[in-house]
Amino acid sequence: AKEQASIITIFGGSGDLARRKLYPALYQLYHRGFLGEHFAVIGTARRPWSDDFYRDIVRTSLQGEPNTDDRSVKHFADHFYYQSHDVTDAEHYVTLKKLAAKLDADYEAEGNRLFYMAMAPRFFGTIASHIRSENLLSETGYNRLIIEKPFGRDFASAKELNDSISAAFTENQIYRIDHYLGKEMVQGLLALRFTNPLLTPIWNKDYISDVQITLAEKVGVEERAGYYETAGALRDMVQNHIMQLIAYVAMEQPATFTPAAVHAAKNKLFTHLPVLTPEQAKRDWVRGQYSASPSQLGYRNEDNVDPESMTETYVAGRIELDDPRWAGVPFFVRTGKRLPAKSTQISINFRPLEHNIFDTVGCNNARVNRLTVFIEPQQGYTLTLNGKTLGASYELEQNALSFVHNQDEINGAPEAYERLIGDALAGDQTNFTRWAEQEHTWNYIDVIRNVWDNSTDLPMYTAGTPGPAEGDALLSRDGFAWAEDF
Ligand code: NAD
Repeated sequence: AKEQASIITIFGGSGDLARRKLYPALYQLYHRGFLGEHFAVIGTARRPWSDDFYRDIVRTSLQGEPNTDDRSVKHFADHFYYQSHDVTDAEHYVTLKKLAAKLDADYEAEGNRLFYMAMAPRFFGTIASHIRSENLLSETGYNRLIIEKPFGRDFASAKELNDSISAAFTENQIYRIDHYLGKEMVQGLLALRFTNPLLTPIWNKDYISDVQITLAEKVGVEERAGYYETAGALRDMVQNHIMQLIAYVAMEQPATFTPAAVHAAKNKLFTHLPVLTPEQAKRDWVRGQYSASPSQLGYRNEDNVDPESMTETYVAGRIELDDPRWAGVPFFVRTGKRLPAKSTQISINFRPLEHNIFDTVGCNNARVNRLTVFIEPQQGYTLTLNGKTLGASYELEQNALSFVHNQDEINGAPEAYERLIGDALAGDQTNFTRWAEQEHTWNYIDVIRNVWDNSTDLPMYTAGTPGPAEGDALLSRDGFAWAEDF
């Protein structure tokens, strides 16, 4: 790995995200030599901490991580500095600027600055405007901003947020994280689609009957009810992760594997995501909420949840793109908490056989071919084909050609945050989202949200079951069914 030089400032350095994801990711980048002697991290938060105390926090966050030993962990943590900081106090930014300049000289960081907003989104605008007014931007190296989801809660707030960060950073300096784009099999989907001449000619409405995307969680809302009550599954999973997966499944082949070409292809695809009418939203989108099972609480009984909460913990929808490649092909999507298992997968269902010559000998059980990409927890893909059973009589059966990544290899491969922070350090925007994508997807989501916010219809499903019957009816209405179990 080519070593990267940078001064990384983390706003929210004492937070949950920083400790659970960012420090382990930075450590692995260090272990792989992507970070070496020429980097330093400034952690900021409100509390008055010393550098030593902060380094202890960083070391503690690495407990149980792979590739750690006391010596490397200590060397790594010695690159961390703490600055207590109130985001609204201009003086504090002046202090931060001086510290960054000093560390840049000490570590020979080439004037590069990476800013990471690991705080509640309501602070992003204030931080960005101070970064600009107090002139924290470097003039000799790069300036980059990494920003976390949620990126707004509707189109209007997303635009406001975008305008505020755009005051200090240009679009090609902004790295909007959608951590699904850092997942191995999501990145692998592009290789599968664009390197197999076997698949390329059939990747369209003439051969594909429907596409299904499932992002199922087994867990409930856990400790995140405060946030989840204001978000719900539609905002939390569909606007971002599911829409990004649709783009990767459906977009045209980018001219090259470069950020500009990939984003152009994605953006073009989203222009073919027609904004729904309220009637269409009512017809094609279903929500649900989990209720108690003998062993699990219902959503409304969870800590910090309103006992009359209308927040959806399940969403299923039918999306139709209006471009020539996909017109008429439904994309069925679903996501939810307290479903039977954790599973993220994409199924491409091919059209049925037009004429089965074996009908005449009584073999009418040919099924549709299906390509399933397993994103998590299993990582790999399966193609189902029809074949003949072993034996003298002529019977058909379905066989699966499967490839699954080995679990040890998966454990050794970089985790999403490590890949994405590494990409940002290397200046590669491919696996981040652009404003135009946010614009299209929020405009789509807002119609559904408005319909639901003005309705009292909220189907319930028992915790641990596959969601409300309405989610299945969405498919059976068109003669389809969910292809894979959990
Ligand atoms: P958190 O509440 O654990 O941490 C917030 C941080 O901000 C703390 O370090 C706190 O000291 C600091 N802070 C708060 N108010 C401040 C102020 N006025 N001045 C200076 N510092 C202040 O939050 P988190 O869970 O780490 O989430 C951070 C961001 O990441 C949020 O945008 C969240 O939506 C996003 N995110 C978090 C997760 C996760 O797993 N935690 C996952 C996806 C996205």
